[in-house]
Amino acid sequence: MPGKSNRLLPLDASSPSGGCRKPLFGLDAESLAAYMAEIGEPVWRGVQVSEALYRQWVNDISEITTLPKSLRLRLVAEGWQIARPAIAKAFQSSDGTERYLVECGPADPLAVETVWMPDGDGGEAGDENETGESHDLRCPGSRFWDPGNHDPQPTGRSRKQDWRRATICVSSQVGCAVNCQFCLTAKLGLQRNLNAGEIAGQVVAVLERHAVRVDRDRVNLVFMGMGEPFLNYDNFMAAVRLLVREVGLSPLRMTVSTSGIVPGIERFAQEPLDLRPKLAISLNAPNDHIRAEVMPINRKWPIGEVIDAVRRVPLRPRERITFEYVLLAGVTDRPEHAREVARLVRRTGLPAKVNLIAWNPGPGIVYKTPESGSVEAFQHTLAGAGIPAYVRQPRGRDIFAACGQLKRTVEG
Ligand code: SAH
Ligand code: SF4
Repeated sequence: MPGKSNRLLPLDASSPSGGCRKPLFGLDAESLAAYMAEIGEPVWRGVQVSEALYRQWVNDISEITTLPKSLRLRLVAEGWQIARPAIAKAFQSSDGTERYLVECGPADPLAVETVWMPDGDGGEAGDENETGESHDLRCPGSRFWDPGNHDPQPTGRSRKQDWRRATICVSSQVGCAVNCQFCLTAKLGLQRNLNAGEIAGQVVAVLERHAVRVDRDRVNLVFMGMGEPFLNYDNFMAAVRLLVREVGLSPLRMTVSTSGIVPGIERFAQEPLDLRPKLAISLNAPNDHIRAEVMPINRKWPIGEVIDAVRRVPLRPRERITFEYVLLAGVTDRPEHAREVARLVRRTGLPAKVNLIAWNPGPGIVYKTPESGSVEAFQHTLAGAGIPAYVRQPRGRDIFAACGQLKRTVEG
């Protein structure tokens, strides 16, 4: 339900949070206030806990100094912990990108993957609140499978650094059930859904690592890591509400990408505008025939049905729908495909832009990365037909951090 609060979801054992049965991180101010009332404390104690969790990013209940010591001790005695997901390993790319294994707790064997791109990847270009600048057509050769530096500590980058183009790529599930043929995450299958605290916790862990000032820096979030957010809808939207209301990030700087889960898009259309991210659809093919081959989910929800659902999403002034388009050499990158995509996007009548992504390789996947010339030609065809088209840079390919490469790659 739109606007629903995250009422004590973590106590549900089907939604583990690192073996901690009572994590505070993940509860919103409303739930925390309700809990305080339940134990006979003033409700504003809940707001104090929320501020400590989401604004001050405390790691231990003893650090919530706005609470009397007796209350802190009581919370601990009752089994509560902060239990915010933490960066266990960091892989650093030569291009500045970092990929993290984020652990949701010591007893949780499944780490989730989160990516930090200090300069974005060009996908944000052309947005209403444009932050990206360059989208040159460089397509560096991949030196993949070199896991790089494993130091989970911050890199000590100067805080004078301006993060206004930085982007955090967030996971919504461990693995994915959707089975797109070009995506490495698909190889994992669905391991489990992440809960709201685990999704929002990835963001807070990265904000803390880079000393981001939420009120001044304008980082972008993309829900484009592991998993299909619209197949974990309630937890995903609960995380968005935490990030907007409690952490203080703007939904205008958030984009969620879906492979085209129609019931999820229909629910998304009901969300209040001040709480919902922008929407990206992974189109990835010029027609149903090719799309069904590369994204079997197309047999369930073909392009026409996806577009019909997207049309029902009320847009903000100047907001555009993004169509993500992965270019697979010889399969989806031909000049005739570009013309077909231009016609398709025009026919939708939607204010739209297309983000082109040259396929990022992964072991055991047979596709080929397109030549930079065909990426450029594709972009020019779309632009010539009046469709804004941008090329997303393959950030962090050398550490397996680029789109579709997230698969809990710990070793080489
Ligand atoms: N599950 C959601 C969001 C995560 S995938 C979705 O599919 O939209 C984020 C983006 O990465 C999608 O647009 C997807 O098509 C793209 N992608 C997946 N594998 C890729 C790969 N190997 N190379 C380039 N892009 C890829
Ligand atoms: Fe899942 Fe998205 Fe990968 Fe498809 S592209 S398998 S939906 S993560």
